[in-house]
Amino acid sequence: MGARKYTVFFFLLCSILLSWAVSAEQSGKAANDLPIFDAHIHYNHDVWDAISPVDAIRRLRELGIKRVMVSSSSDKGTQQLYQVAPAFVVPVLRPYRKRGTIETWMYDETVIPYLHERLNKYRYAAIGELHIDGEQAYTPVMQEIIHLAKKYHLILHVHSDAQAIKFIFKQYPGARILWAHAGFDYAVIVGKLMDKHHNLWADLSFRGEIINQGRLMKAWRILLERHADRFLFGLDTYEPQRWLQLKYAMQWQRDLLNALPRDVAKKIAYENGEKMIRFYDVGEKVVVE
Ligand SMILES: [Zn+2]
Repeated sequence: MGARKYTVFFFLLCSILLSWAVSAEQSGKAANDLPIFDAHIHYNHDVWDAISPVDAIRRLRELGIKRVMVSSSSDKGTQQLYQVAPAFVVPVLRPYRKRGTIETWMYDETVIPYLHERLNKYRYAAIGELHIDGEQAYTPVMQEIIHLAKKYHLILHVHSDAQAIKFIFKQYPGARILWAHAGFDYAVIVGKLMDKHHNLWADLSFRGEIINQGRLMKAWRILLERHADRFLFGLDTYEPQRWLQLKYAMQWQRDLLNALPRDVAKKIAYENGEKMIRFYDVGEKVVVE
C-alpha cells in the first residue's frame, strides 16, 4: 500500500470511528433525556412526616418522570399527591390501609367496604398494587376486586406468581393486568403469558439483575423487543428508605434504555404507560419528543 493509500485509509478509519462515537453519544444522550412514565410509586403513611406531598412530587419530577401511577397505604397518601399535581398523578386504589397486611389482606372482608367507599368518592385508573399468590386469586375479597375492576374499567396491579395471573384471567378473560416486577419470574415464563394474554403488561421495578454493566441478559433483550409494547418502569417506593435511593434506581432504568434500540426504549420509557391508562382521562397530554 502506497503513502497516499495509507492516508486515504487513515481518514476513512477516522471518519468511521468518529461517526460511531457521535451516534453512540447521541443515542445514549437521547435515552437519558427520554421522559419516564412510572407505573409503581407508593406514598405510604410512614413517609408523610418526612417527605411532604410537594416534596415527593418535586423529587419524582427531578428524575425526568412525566407521569406516575401512585398507590398508597392508606389511600390518603395517593389523594394528597393527586391534590398537588392532578395531571401528573394517576391514582391507583390500594386495598391496604396500613403497613404489614400484605400477607393477610385477602382474607380481611373489611377491605371490601373500604374499596367501595373510596371508589364512590374518587377516580382511579387501577386497583393495586396488591399481593397474592396462586389460589389466593379466588378468595372472596379477590373475587370482589375482580368484580370492581370489571365494573369501573380498572387495571389490576398485581404482585404475584404466574399462577395467580392465570387464575385472574380465568375469572375475567378481559382483565387488564399490570404484573408487578414481572412476577420476579423468568423471561420465558413472562413471555409465554404475554403471548397468551394481550392485556398483560409488566413493570420492571426491582429487576436490576437483568442488566449487568450495560449488557442486557439475552433472554430479556429478546423478550423486551418482542413484547416492546408491554413493559413499563417503576421505582416502587415501598418503604421510606427507598425515597432516598431514587436517583440510583432511576440510573439503572436509564442504563436499560441505553442498551435498547431507540424505538423500544421510547415505548418502555413512556409510551406504553400512556397507552395502558387510555381509559383514564388524565386531562393533560405530555408531548414525547
Ligand atoms: Zn410496590
